[in-house]
Amino acid sequence: MNFKDYIRVIPDFPQPGIRFKDITTLLKNGPAYQAAIAAMRQQVADLEIDIIAGPEARGFVIGAPLALALGVGFVPIRKSGKLPGETVEADYDLEYGKDKLALHKDSIVPGQKVLIADDLLATGGTIATTINLINKLGGNVVGAAFLIELSYLDGRKKLGDIPLTSLVTY
Ligand code: 5GP
Repeated sequence: MNFKDYIRVIPDFPQPGIRFKDITTLLKNGPAYQAAIAAMRQQVADLEIDIIAGPEARGFVIGAPLALALGVGFVPIRKSGKLPGETVEADYDLEYGKDKLALHKDSIVPGQKVLIADDLLATGGTIATTINLINKLGGNVVGAAFLIELSYLDGRKKLGDIPLTSLVTY
């Protein structure tokens, strides 16, 4: 399946000059969504994974079904102020904006093997912050799985040696 056929590109969203990759057109198509998660699962088949962590909001719609497919748990990473329990937090830069991400302190046990899942890798700011949060809790990031990689933004270099997979590259 050519997953690009199901992803809509919207110019000048949310700011002039950004060509937004809209995955809602893929998500609303059952067979395409199912095939995308199955293909992502295949890409991480060689990794030992205890738990998946996904940043809100699109990291949930990729990370949770991938966790179910692998039979592992899912941990949400959220904007500051949204999680009810005790959290660790870290600042991050987006392709367009700035924010703070948070993770429940008891969501990851030291030494746990964590796969990060998100819809899209752009500048790598989100993934760098996510790695930082997981490391703060003693988790071991074993990989990062994306639906889409914007290779021209070179976010990949923020991952160092951590294995990265993606289904679609622009
Ligand atoms: P980064 O932190 O790598 O610069 O940006 C990645 C984050 O921003 C991801 O969580 C992703 O959901 C969001 N993002 C940035 N650009 C796009 C885009 O064009 N399409 C989608 N779907 N998400 C984007």
